[in-house]
This record gives sequence, structure tokens and C-alpha cells, in this order.
Amino acid sequence: MKKPSKIRVLHRTIPVRWDAASINRASREEGEPLHGVYRSGEILIAPDQPDVERETLLHEILHALIDQTALAADGGPLSGDSEEQVVRTLSPLLFHTLRNNAALTRWLVQ
Ligand SMILES: [Zn+2]
Repeated sequence: MKKPSKIRVLHRTIPVRWDAASINRASREEGEPLHGVYRSGEILIAPDQPDVERETLLHEILHALIDQTALAADGGPLSGDSEEQVVRTLSPLLFHTLRNNAALTRWLVQ
């Protein structure tokens, strides 16, 4: 199945770039190795990481979703480091729940 190049989130279309140079640059800027990042209205994902790319994309989609809410705004419940903590906790749980319940996933999106 083809990797997505864009994701629709409410009224926005968020580009998804599977680009090693961009993710390497983002990793240098963040000071830590990244598998993916959501920033400036786009998602960057390191290519060629088949074991983690789907979960990484879901992780970044959750950041994009939160960005569409007031949850991460100053003083919001996910401001500061809380957003990353919540996303790191929920994204693997959601990913594995969807993956282990294929019929449920198909039913949800039909
Ligand atoms: Zn994150």
C-alpha cells in the first residue's frame, strides 16, 4: 500500500513528507534523533523504517489533531511537556488497538 502524502484533518490538508534530509535536519535542530515530527503545518517522517513508520505517522497525526484544538494552547491541559507525554502514551496504544482489531477499524471508517 502506498504511503500517504497528505492527511485531511478537519478543514486542513497536512502534507506528509517521507524525506531523510528533512528529518535529519529536524533532528539536528531538536537536538535528538527523530523518527518523525509535526511542525509548521506538515508532518516529516523518516523513510525506510518499516518497523515504526506507521506508529510514527499516527503519533504525528495525534500532534496535528491536538494542534487543531485548544488543548495545547497556553494554560491548556496539554500545554508544555504534557502534549508529548500524552501522545507518546496514547499513540502506541491506539495503533496496536487498531492493528489488532482490523474488523473494528474497517467498521469505524466505512
Ligand atoms: Zn511527539
